Amino acid sequence: MGMFRWVAALAILCSCFPQARGAGQDGPFRAGAATVNITPPLGQPIVGGFSPVPATYVRDELHTRCLVLDDGRRKLAILLSDNVGIPREVHDAAKAWIDAETGIPPGDVLSASTHTHSATSARGENKVVAAKELTEYQRFVARRMADCARIALGNLEPAKIAWGRAEEPEEVFNRRWYVRDESLLQNPFGGIDRVRMNPPRGSEALIEPAGPVDPEIAFVSVRSRDGRPICLLANYSLHYVGGVPSGHISADYFGAFARRIGPAIGAEPHEPEFVGILSNGTSGNINNIDFRSAGERTAPYEKIERVASRLASLVAESERGAAFHDRATLDARLVEVTLGVRKPSPEQIEWAKGIRAKLAEGQPKVSDRDRVYCARIEQLASESPDEIRVPVQAIRIGPLGIAALPFEVFVETGLSLKKERPMDSAFTIELANGSFGYLPTADHHALGGYETWIGTCNVEVGAAARLEQRVLELWRGMREADGNR
Ligand SMILES: [Zn+2]
Repeated sequence: MGMFRWVAALAILCSCFPQARGAGQDGPFRAGAATVNITPPLGQPIVGGFSPVPATYVRDELHTRCLVLDDGRRKLAILLSDNVGIPREVHDAAKAWIDAETGIPPGDVLSASTHTHSATSARGENKVVAAKELTEYQRFVARRMADCARIALGNLEPAKIAWGRAEEPEEVFNRRWYVRDESLLQNPFGGIDRVRMNPPRGSEALIEPAGPVDPEIAFVSVRSRDGRPICLLANYSLHYVGGVPSGHISADYFGAFARRIGPAIGAEPHEPEFVGILSNGTSGNINNIDFRSAGERTAPYEKIERVASRLASLVAESERGAAFHDRATLDARLVEVTLGVRKPSPEQIEWAKGIRAKLAEGQPKVSDRDRVYCARIEQLASESPDEIRVPVQAIRIGPLGIAALPFEVFVETGLSLKKERPMDSAFTIELANGSFGYLPTADHHALGGYETWIGTCNVEVGAAARLEQRVLELWRGMREADGNR
């Protein structure tokens, strides 16, 4: 058999039986990382709140950060970009470039937003309809993501890897509360909810939070064979922190953690530079506000820096005691799940017509909230599809499972995945590979509140449970493949 045919036969064998690829043929375990700047020009709208304001100042630059791992058989790229929520078409554009330019297929690339609320929008007009054309900024971000993966790939070097965890329960608060006061429970559509998102701080009306928190900070650390830190990827289930003046561009505590974790674990100036990454866990209903207390006065960025420094020192302490391994088996699966899109009820459509009429009369009393939900109901009623397909991805890095979901995921889903995982440990990166709105559990839909309102949550009530099951199936599939190996 000629050499070419022999190689071709081997290639066919390998693609049919991935487990048959002999361990003896594996190259060394390698890691590489990179950072690129994605700061937009001033003047573009910052979209953390209901009404966007133009950016007037850059307090700290926005970045895409990438970790590439290579177990000798497969390469995985994990990208985190400082943004409030990047739509699928931007991630897909970046993945297509990465595929064409590096050969890493889209299923082996996890691309997510950090969730800073003080970034210019890379969002589209409609969360359930893909934009036909990318905006100039979206195209720029996608191109830079691909650049980041390419640079990280170029930085690959033999490496060792460690996994670890710490806990910081003091900086996470469930933001949905049972309250005594019915006036706090009115939803935009004339109904009464059972829980209130972000109730007034220190109020007598507070009863108790309507759910748990997840205090875990999980991390993966990669170092060169001689011990130099290459990259640390952490995960914490806290929405943004905020305390950012209006008009400021900032990467919030995600950026502050990235700056602090290097020095905390002994990274020194080096070419290529160490890359710290903080990914967002399941924080759809979790924020940094202690609702029981009336609230302390803090200077801009004070809380961001406090939270980031706490997390960095806890992670550094845990990393110091972590055992480093010479290799880790990598795996990744990406599937599409079809979800029903929620449609407004006849009453909600009537309500929206009423608001639209008031707006047409120029009535100044229409609140921002009513104006926004009126537009969202109109959009869902007219131009939205009945179903959407969303990407669900599961990754394995040695004993660690990572779930990647394209929503603002509730903490209950993250905790359940951590509990049911078939691996030694697991965490979820939210706003990954897309950004389709909130993903409350069915139990939370029954309670109502902001995150469950149509227009905030756009997909079927059972979506969270279905996506959770899908991730578990993917992880189990990886376990089985591993058993056959
Ligand atoms: Zn958010």
